[in-house]
Amino acid sequence: MFPEYIVLHTAAFTGRNCDRDMIDAWHKARRWSGIGYHFVILNDKHDQKPDGAVEIGRLTNKSGAHALGLNSCSLGICCVGHGDKVDFTPAQYKSLYNLITDLMSEFSISVDNVIGHRELNTLAEKNIIPSRYKTSKSCPGTKINMHAIRDKLAQTPTLIKHERTSVDENSKIAMNNAIAILQKHRAQFPNAQDELDEFINHPEVISMTRA
Ligand SMILES: [Zn+2]
Repeated sequence: MFPEYIVLHTAAFTGRNCDRDMIDAWHKARRWSGIGYHFVILNDKHDQKPDGAVEIGRLTNKSGAHALGLNSCSLGICCVGHGDKVDFTPAQYKSLYNLITDLMSEFSISVDNVIGHRELNTLAEKNIIPSRYKTSKSCPGTKINMHAIRDKLAQTPTLIKHERTSVDENSKIAMNNAIAILQKHRAQFPNAQDELDEFINHPEVISMTRA
């Protein structure tokens, strides 16, 4: 998949400890292959993991399952919490802006193509996608101002381009697979989870794996 859009979502869940594993379980219960989002950004309601932590869902080279009509050409980011009830936390916004600017840079995505799930309707009105893909959802939530998010992204003077590690395609695939395995089994090494997150979110690792 070559992504042209970034679609923002809310988990629409007010409970505690929501993370990529919980969402993965929800989506498997729908008989999907697994989590439909490419990234999950945690909030301040997790007992073990920090506010703003970015977790990897589906790998970016695979089509997501998050925005019917746009899945084959978009990356899905889900912010934990309920965007109809409460705004994202400052830490979530910080991670969100960092993640989106990275992805915009990596995949040459313009700020206009950073949209909220509900804005599929705008795309349908512009005949970019068929009108049957209009959604009744308010996702990422009525508290979330997509125009303000795009304005802030547009103000980012130059997208930070990290030093690229020169790696071949097989190494990238192996790294992505290794991270997926570590994420899957993270509960088994409780004392190393902070280091794992730090490793996964290191710019060098991000530049190597998000391709
Ligand atoms: Zn959504």
